[in-house]
Amino acid sequence: MSSEAGTTPDITRTDCAQCGTEVHGLDGRYACGGCGWVNHYSDGHNELPGAETDVDYPNPLLPG
Ligand SMILES: [Zn+2]
Repeated sequence: MSSEAGTTPDITRTDCAQCGTEVHGLDGRYACGGCGWVNHYSDGHNELPGAETDVDYPNPLLPG
């Protein structure tokens, strides 16, 4: 099996911007288990999915 881009997420690592702990994530998205830091969603390596892919589309803000 080859790992072509766009099929499976890559495991990536960085240092937590808040406490410096090494944090592992998927495709550039991180959440630190030590201090709760998370990087911005737009820092990920992949293009973000559109709103129409959300299960709550087209009214994600309306309850029920
Ligand atoms: Zn941290």
